[in-house]
Amino acid sequence: MIIMKKDATPAQVQHVIDEVGRAGLRTDVSRGAYLTIIGLIGDESKVDFTHLAALPGVKEARMIEAPYKLINREYSNAYGETGTRTVKVGNVEFGGPEPVFIAGPCAVENREDLFRIAEQCKAAGAHVLRGGVFKPRSSVHSFQGLGSAGTEEAIEALSWLQEAGREFGMPVVTEVRGEAQVDLVAQFVDIIQIGARNMYDQDLLQTAARKKLPVMFKRHFGASIEEFLCFSEYIAAEGNKDIILCERGIVPMGKGKSFTRYMLDLAAVPVVQKETYLPIIVDPSHATGRRDLIRSMSLASIAAGAAGLMIEVHDRPEDARCDAAQMIQPSELKEIIATARQLRKIAVK
Ligand code: PEP
Ligand code: MN
Repeated sequence: MIIMKKDATPAQVQHVIDEVGRAGLRTDVSRGAYLTIIGLIGDESKVDFTHLAALPGVKEARMIEAPYKLINREYSNAYGETGTRTVKVGNVEFGGPEPVFIAGPCAVENREDLFRIAEQCKAAGAHVLRGGVFKPRSSVHSFQGLGSAGTEEAIEALSWLQEAGREFGMPVVTEVRGEAQVDLVAQFVDIIQIGARNMYDQDLLQTAARKKLPVMFKRHFGASIEEFLCFSEYIAAEGNKDIILCERGIVPMGKGKSFTRYMLDLAAVPVVQKETYLPIIVDPSHATGRRDLIRSMSLASIAAGAAGLMIEVHDRPEDARCDAAQMIQPSELKEIIATARQLRKIAVK
């Protein structure tokens, strides 16, 4: 990272960018209230930091030790931003003083169910509507989401999601399961979701990032926190720092029954907040797979400092084609949101 002097001229900033470019690296320029910082994208061993530090207008040039640099808290601190980044989606702000609640069914199944659930989620206090159109499933024999049937079906399901969001005043989020879906999905949604299984797909991350829409990025169930942050850097390196991280549980160790779908790593929330300025939310639904655990894990996540929650909701879960066991009723969502808001006030400084 290269920190420019307060009085550095635009020509001096450009000169540094050109010098870095000559070494074969790209740059990420952040202009804070007081300072301009230039982040490097590429192999830093090719750069002579002593040379860069001696260029006109440069205050300091040094390496950020962690492998994730552009999303590093150290990087934003350097240009005077000390808090969490707020990712704005319409009127909703992830990383602001109030927690954000994303709610909706696991999958978009039909227009009627989606609209009925969306209306109830809104009334319960949710801010963002979710619903999968392309579902990642372990078995090829399971329901893969309406979008998997063909382009026409995908457009129809995505339009319902967009319309329901507009009707009830909620931005919408859905998952892209592969690069081929990004162009289409980006035309209908406010946030692009990258699911846990695709956390390591760097081509998908880059393609999604280039749409310049906020990206909700879920941790893989086998990923360390460092890997999770390293892969979010792929999105930031495309010039898109509107990233909402999401903890959704990891695979537990040991023999025998775990009683939950995954193991919710709650310590990841404060750890990630120390490492990066990006907001992090928690998905207790996929983490536990059990509706009887959603309330306690939601409140625990808020107490841990999560910027929000993503919860699967269905008023007739017996009709749902996937994840019926973890979907809660809108009435329960309402109580969780109200309690979480109260809890946030006393638990988070
Ligand atoms: C989802 O949120 O719809 C989902 C499939 O979650 P995950 O990628 O965390 O399994
Ligand atoms: Mn689901």
